[in-house]
Amino acid sequence: MAKSAAGIKEALFSGSMDMEEMKESLDLYRDLFPLSERGLKPKNKLRPPGKEEAAMRLREGFTLLEPEDLMPAENALHKKAGEVLAVLQQHSEGKGAVAGSSDTLKDKKLLAQLVRIYLEDGEEKLREDIGTYPSLNPELALFVVFNAVKGSFRDAGTILEDIDTQAWEHGLCPVCGGAPAVACLEGEGGKRYLVCHRCETRWRYARVMCPYCGNNDHDNLGFFTVEGGQDTLRVDFCNSCKGYIKTWDIRERENSHPEVEDLKTARYDLAAEGEGYRRGAPNIFGVWVGFDLEDLEEQEEGDR
Ligand SMILES: [Zn+2]
Ligand SMILES: [Zn+2]
Repeated sequence: MAKSAAGIKEALFSGSMDMEEMKESLDLYRDLFPLSERGLKPKNKLRPPGKEEAAMRLREGFTLLEPEDLMPAENALHKKAGEVLAVLQQHSEGKGAVAGSSDTLKDKKLLAQLVRIYLEDGEEKLREDIGTYPSLNPELALFVVFNAVKGSFRDAGTILEDIDTQAWEHGLCPVCGGAPAVACLEGEGGKRYLVCHRCETRWRYARVMCPYCGNNDHDNLGFFTVEGGQDTLRVDFCNSCKGYIKTWDIRERENSHPEVEDLKTARYDLAAEGEGYRRGAPNIFGVWVGFDLEDLEEQEEGDR
């Protein structure tokens, strides 16, 4: 499915956050965007599969790319991570956590090792490993690792966007194996697509099935909308894994970017968390959008 960095940028810099008190996070994403616009070159030249090989891989359940093929050179990684940290620092005034982790993450070898773990084994394994470094704030370290390679993932998605992925029926991205950040309904009859939080590839998925656990028992799946919210957005939830995914109906607006709208609609995440559900995957900047409910409860009261 076609996507363009220019379109993403335009979507990101228009509109506003749907909750005033979450405005800061949208500002952070806007400042981060330029860092992801051009990804780091993989150390070994990327060799996208040819048409036949691609078709075979997808049929057999293999992603088109192995994420570890995106591993950049150590120096380039070090520079990019430094830029991500600088943006983060600007948005976290007075918080010591950035400074402490920042020194540790400036160790080139360690940083490269963390990135390699993320690419080879994913976020969960990286989370475990980070736990063994007392000087690292886990959320912050994950954020830096993710955003240092975010552009490389998006570039890979763009390189492979013309490959037909119709044969793929899984809940993870056919290009890189990333989990879907959001879903959308588009085309005739509203076919359902998922959007990868890493490379932003869109792929077709069953209409009534949880992408995170594969549950397709419709008694255990549902959706809700938010009063006073957007009429083209709903939250699809699964009572089997307690995951949720925001779904945009973009039949009337085929060129929209639900993965970017995701960043501006924190109210829906808050509502879903309030109902006891959790996002099944981070947003396109690698953030899980965890809310401090106590902080926000007061505001909610005031809104009523
Ligand atoms: Zn992907
Ligand atoms: Zn589920």
